[in-house]
Amino acid sequence: MSTTITKIGVFTSGGDAPGMNAAIRAVVRASIYYKKEVFGIMRGYEGMIEGDIVKLGARSVGNILQRGGTILKSARSQEFRTPEGRKKAFDQLKKHGIDALIAIGGDGSFTGLHHFFNEYGLPSVCIPGTIDNDIPGTDYTIGYDTATNTAVEAIDKIRDTALSHNRLFFVEVMGRNSGYIAINSGIAGGAGAIIIPEDHMTFEELYAILKPGEETAKKSNVVVVAEGSKIGGALDLARKVTERSSYFDIKVTILGHLQRGGSPTYFDRVLASKLGVAAVEGLLNGKQDVMVGILDNKISFTPFETVRSGIHAINEEDLRIAKILSI
Ligand code: ATP
Repeated sequence: MSTTITKIGVFTSGGDAPGMNAAIRAVVRASIYYKKEVFGIMRGYEGMIEGDIVKLGARSVGNILQRGGTILKSARSQEFRTPEGRKKAFDQLKKHGIDALIAIGGDGSFTGLHHFFNEYGLPSVCIPGTIDNDIPGTDYTIGYDTATNTAVEAIDKIRDTALSHNRLFFVEVMGRNSGYIAINSGIAGGAGAIIIPEDHMTFEELYAILKPGEETAKKSNVVVVAEGSKIGGALDLARKVTERSSYFDIKVTILGHLQRGGSPTYFDRVLASKLGVAAVEGLLNGKQDVMVGILDNKISFTPFETVRSGIHAINEEDLRIAKILSI
């Protein structure tokens, strides 16, 4: 393993995701295992620019594995988007002797680090941490499993009240432009219909699914809507159905940031632990400007350029299954 790297900086950036703490813990302990010093950079690129940097030890990451959020805090920094901001960040890292970086975050954070690498050549590895599961080069991102379980739990509860009151619920879940959380929480929650940005379902097609309820007296149903839906969010769709028919008693639930919090599932803890260790080992083996991910249950390193130009497509088979099961 390389002996040139001596001090590794780790930070979380962009939207927080459950399991980020488990990844921080893994990076810190793996670094120490390989006799490297490790520093936590607070509040992502904002803290990097301001020099808000703390030395971490194996014990400073005790009892965080099971906690949601991120002990290093997260932020979005406009200044880091400028060459001047990145120069300030580099000067701060130099001051602390940090000679390699590990970022835990989403594609925006990776883009920032890629520019930084091109300008200053600091070896860097990204760990995908976002509930959206929208990053190519990994089958799963840290936080996605927990967020989807949270959505399923909510759908189960909503179904109880939907049935009791014969109501039609539109439940909006997160995921930005990705339908991963929606499709899988919809399948697991037995949704009557699932609206995702990757599908081409029109409002008329959705209405055609709900309309037979008028004839069969099936008033209660749950429709899961991804926030990136191209035919409108849960509120829009509820309004459109109301305009079309007064038959349904319609309610809307937008799950929102609830999906970003909470204790990570076993899956996210294990994923974060594996990716954290692999990121450190990758750096020490000379990897740079790459993202570590898990593909077909194996650790893989994907060059950032490939990550940036790709998309993490929905499994068409999942969509087909959802349609068969929602009749
Ligand atoms: P999530 O997917 O959860 O939103 P993210 O990492 O994609 O996470 P962003 O807000 O897109 O979140 O990016 C995080 C930070 O990365 C930004 O606030 C900014 O500081 C930095 N960043 C993003 N894009 C660039 C860019 N093109 N150049 C420099 N820095 C960037």
